[in-house]
Amino acid sequence: MEQLIKDGRRIDGRKFDELRQIRIEAGVLKRADGSAYMEWGGNKALAAVYGPREARPRHIQNPTRAIVQCRYNMAAFSVSDRKRQGPDRRSVEISKIMSEALEHVVFTEQFPRASIDVYIEVLQADAGTRCTGLTAASVALADAGIPMRDFVSSCAVGKVDGQIVLDLGKQEDNLGDADLPIAIMPRTKEILLLQMDGHLTIEEFNKAVDMGMNACMEIYEMQKEAMRKKYPGD
Ligand code: ADP
Repeated sequence: MEQLIKDGRRIDGRKFDELRQIRIEAGVLKRADGSAYMEWGGNKALAAVYGPREARPRHIQNPTRAIVQCRYNMAAFSVSDRKRQGPDRRSVEISKIMSEALEHVVFTEQFPRASIDVYIEVLQADAGTRCTGLTAASVALADAGIPMRDFVSSCAVGKVDGQIVLDLGKQEDNLGDADLPIAIMPRTKEILLLQMDGHLTIEEFNKAVDMGMNACMEIYEMQKEAMRKKYPGD
């Protein structure tokens, strides 16, 4: 079996609690109300926001607040074997958990009957695309000027070769023992998303959540920096 940790370093040379390289750019698309582009290790994703606009068809409207509708999509060329186009079970699930996380931060009560539509296009996938997409989506919402309590900051933690490690790469994701994506509202540290694939003891779980939350705070700084860069002086 392939060794994922050697001499205290991971297969790509990272330390256990080290993130991959991250770049976030706000406001990259002219026709969307808000947008963001994000590179996170080998992941590349675009997020585009439209709205708030009248929700259609009308029966999906909520008379007291806006609904947030996410569509997460992986491009055919985003993975090594060409991906079949269109929604599958995985992308429907990811779209749903993203919508729920984002609904918690948007002041939806300010826009009754409206829909805020968030499109996430994964151009290149390398494990951790739901965290990449969600992080980019909240920057795109901020870029669209949609009133929010806070950003959503997200990162995954996992277990490989018996060690808790941050932000799994593709090989670690394939061969590791557990994967635990987390998203939080950084200011209050409320957890908006927590999924788990694999097995962890309670001690490992607690360690993983702590490590993931700290990383989310690092991501939060990068999100704010992306907004400052786009809107200097605001
Ligand atoms: P996440 O991307 O959030 O980590 P998963 O754990 O479901 O979500 O997927 C891990 C990785 O597996 C993805 O980032 C992608 O690189 C790869 N992957 C997911 N779906 C497919 C697919 N249909 N075909 C090929 N590779 C895929």
